Amino acid sequence: MKKSFLTREQIAEVVKKYPTPFHIYDEKGIRENARKLLQAFSWNKGFREYFAVKATPNPFLMQILQEEGCGFDCSSLTELMLAEAVGALGDDIMFSSNATPAEEFVKARQLNGIINLDDFTHIAFLEKAAGIPEKICCRYNPGGVYAVSNSIMDNPGDAKYGLTKEQMIEGYKMLLEKGVKEFGIHSFLCSNTVTNDYYPMLATTLFELAVELKEKTGANITFINLSGGIGIPYYPEQEGNDILAIGEGVRKAYERILVPAGMGNISIYTELGRFMLAPYGQLVATAVHEKHIYKEYIGLDACAANLMRPAMYGAYHHITVPGKEGLPCDHKYDITGSLCENNDKFAIDRMLPKIDIGDYIVLHDTGAHGFSMGYNYNGRLRSAELLLKEDGSIQMIRRAETPADYFATFDYTGLFQ
Ligand SMILES: *Cc1c(COP(=O)(O)O)cnc(C)c1O
Repeated sequence: MKKSFLTREQIAEVVKKYPTPFHIYDEKGIRENARKLLQAFSWNKGFREYFAVKATPNPFLMQILQEEGCGFDCSSLTELMLAEAVGALGDDIMFSSNATPAEEFVKARQLNGIINLDDFTHIAFLEKAAGIPEKICCRYNPGGVYAVSNSIMDNPGDAKYGLTKEQMIEGYKMLLEKGVKEFGIHSFLCSNTVTNDYYPMLATTLFELAVELKEKTGANITFINLSGGIGIPYYPEQEGNDILAIGEGVRKAYERILVPAGMGNISIYTELGRFMLAPYGQLVATAVHEKHIYKEYIGLDACAANLMRPAMYGAYHHITVPGKEGLPCDHKYDITGSLCENNDKFAIDRMLPKIDIGDYIVLHDTGAHGFSMGYNYNGRLRSAELLLKEDGSIQMIRRAETPADYFATFDYTGLFQ
């Protein structure tokens, strides 16, 4: 069962100061989960999680993760600037980007972050733009389809990312000639996996590749980055991942493949976004309209501009009505936002308790790829982000946008007199 981490009474208090809609994050949950991840990989001396900043680019949340030992995985100039703003430098930063503009390589080099090259041609591009560093990583794409327990998880052969195996070998040789001393391997093959098998399987693929690359090029491989992709159970009846079992599965592959090859001091890195934050954020809205036509609708003061995943992927986000947890879910609703787009629906044919105007509506698991995917279509403004701190107090960690923010990119002086 999914439960809001704020009761109806607590929300009623919060809205006196910060009206709905808002995203709110649970500091305690974030810290406990981060510690569990570290525990799961404590067998690996150099283990590090590089939080994928794109999932939730808020410096206050980044600071919490930094206090728990995380570095940052950045993929754009502004994400690099955020990492810099919270004091990350050098090996605290992983720069995993694609179709990368030259200025972003320059910035990543300036911060001395670890650059993860997405393509063979990026070697020459990087050399020209910012020079080749002594430590570098290359992103691998094995092609084909990736299957776990006979079910296809994803289709790397259709994905735009990474180098082929031949390119990895040639790329390492070329980088060695250009003076690189330390190498890493990175790969991200499947998103939102809810199985304990994905990471151990990916690790097996990458560990075997590491042994082959070392044999064929003599490169000094010091880290392997398993990247993101560990999912969370968005459905209440779904069983979540067991991160301790996942860490143990990766350890077994490490002992089986790397240790006998004399590569038992390789550090394992992860770049999780969703797993780190999704369950510890929720979007809180208010039911402002009800509508009875061919179907029953509840209209919220939030819309897809605040949470795009349902409109974009048909993604499921669980919905609860604080204060009505005990009531039977005997009403079928479409829960909508106000965009002039019929896909602006947070839920379709969802069974919920009877909703009354003024009820608070909680959309669960919005802590990653939630606020950050927001946009301004229809002139809708992005909401505030709040933090429920460990001591129970509320901190505003981003204010809501105002019309002035929306108009800030043109000079409207004189237009609206
Ligand atoms: C998006 C992304 C991640 C994080 O993915 P999650 O599914 O949120 O874990 C990690 N690494 C890279 C390169 C990404 O693009």
